[in-house]
Amino acid sequence: MHPFTYTRISDTREAINAGRRGGRYIAGGTTLVDLMRETVEHPETLVDISRLPLREITATERGGLRIGALVTMSQAAAHPKVRTLFPVVSEALELSASAQLRNMASIGGNIMQRTRCTYFRDVSADCNKRDPGSGCAARDGYNRTHAILGTSDSCVATHPSDVAVAFAALEASVHLLGSDGERRVPFADFLLKPGDTPRREQAIRQGELITSVEIPALPRPLKSGYLKVRDRQSYEFALTSAAVALHVGGGVIRDAKVAAGGVGTVPWKLAAVERALIGRRPSDALWTAAAEQAADGARPLTHNRFKAELLKRTVERQLRIVGGTK
Ligand SMILES: Cc1cc2nc3c(=O)[nH]c(=O)nc-3n(C[C@H](O)[C@H](O)[C@H](O)COP(=O)(O)OP(=O)(O)OC[C@H]3O[C@@H](n4cnc5c(N)ncnc54)[C@H](O)[C@@H]3O)c2cc1C
Ligand code: SF4
Repeated sequence: MHPFTYTRISDTREAINAGRRGGRYIAGGTTLVDLMRETVEHPETLVDISRLPLREITATERGGLRIGALVTMSQAAAHPKVRTLFPVVSEALELSASAQLRNMASIGGNIMQRTRCTYFRDVSADCNKRDPGSGCAARDGYNRTHAILGTSDSCVATHPSDVAVAFAALEASVHLLGSDGERRVPFADFLLKPGDTPRREQAIRQGELITSVEIPALPRPLKSGYLKVRDRQSYEFALTSAAVALHVGGGVIRDAKVAAGGVGTVPWKLAAVERALIGRRPSDALWTAAAEQAADGARPLTHNRFKAELLKRTVERQLRIVGGTK
């Protein structure tokens, strides 16, 4: 463990100033402290933001929801508006981590969490994300849990968040506050694919603070849900997952939002699956045909060839559950 200073700030502007000076935000601390213990991260100044007034969940005028960055995972999962308007978000949260972790961990910290690639967390291994230019031990190593979509020669690590998959499917946006004021970044642009710079993971500037995540209003009625496939039922990260939201009117699918987790370097929006669904009548044959598109463009590694097929089956199963045919 490297020495660091710790300061708790309860004023948002002061926190941003401290962030601008190089301070590192800490909310629930459930992942940053682990990374510090493992000496993967060594911030010199920790800025505890857990007392900032970012704990509200509010309905937006148009029928969407805004979830404060410091709302805990358990509070968000249990909130009546989240449960009724966007069950896919509640389900993704309830299938994440453990109850104790969800009670501590924040929504902002969750989408900012770093990969669980074991080589990234092992400081003796080559890792371009941790140590740019050193190589990628996962490419020729044991890569069963790694990504098949959005990979680059530099990095093949998955993004581990579950709720980020639901946010990606629903086309949420991230509200940020920095010394230059507020801005809003579409979720699809917030988490970055590795490309040649895997160290850069989010479109966030020095000192910027996530203040909330906004889910837009979607046509109603809307049925939605999250399915997660993992090695064990107790807390474990996804091998594959699917977030699905469907709006059916007059017997036809009018709108479809679908994204996958556990397979991409970022939560993976399944635009081809959505296109295959919209304008069609729900049926078992449709779910199967649409899910066939889920792994388009996949580039499997030595040990994760099974993921493309597993992804298709996960998406098909979840379309069937949400779409309501048997
Ligand atoms: C054993 C275990 C199992 C887990 N399983 C799962 C799982 O199945 N699914 C899943 O999704 N997650 C899982 N997690 C991850 C867990 O959800 C995260 O640790 C948690 O959400 C992080 O939130 P936090 O508030 O504790 O973040 P912190 O550890 O406080 O911070 C994490 C990062 O976010 C930054 N940050 C925090 N808040 C803000 C903000 N408002 N603005 C800007 N930057 C910010 C910090 O600077 C830091 O870089 C697991 C974690 C553990 C330890
Ligand atoms: S996959 Fe990415 S995080 Fe993992 S070792 Fe390779 S460069 Fe590092």
